Amino acid sequence: MLFKLWGSMYNPNMSQTGETFFTVVGCMDGRCQIVVADYGKKTFGAIFPDTITEPGIVGMLSGNPSHEFLENLKKKIHISLEKHHSQGIVVDGHAECAGNPVDDQTHKDNVKKSVEVIKSMVDNSIPVTGVFAARNDNTWEVSEIVPAKVLV
Ligand SMILES: [Zn+2]
Repeated sequence: MLFKLWGSMYNPNMSQTGETFFTVVGCMDGRCQIVVADYGKKTFGAIFPDTITEPGIVGMLSGNPSHEFLENLKKKIHISLEKHHSQGIVVDGHAECAGNPVDDQTHKDNVKKSVEVIKSMVDNSIPVTGVFAARNDNTWEVSEIVPAKVLV
């Protein structure tokens, strides 16, 4: 039911070949996933997010991640790129994060650093942006930390 609604919200007549993807490397926290998915749709003009999550993933990427962790992440990103022809990658962090409980400024710096890590993983082959989600009154909103760039 929910899946049907999700699909029909965007294009009820879409054929499988017209389905387009982007990639999210972000937190498992559902509060940021919805706004980050909206941001990705607008930024990359693609419909479906391939969502790769860990709790507070930008904290992990900014720390001293193990080779195994990085290889595993790289594998997932490359499935999105190669099988789904992902149009771009969004890296996210967010306020009130249980997995990366640092202050917002540190968390934003973690996003910047993680964008560099992900860029090197994909050899700059597609755009990589960084965002930070935070509560504005009771609504979660995304601000762009590392803007989308057109690749030359
Ligand atoms: Zn989180």
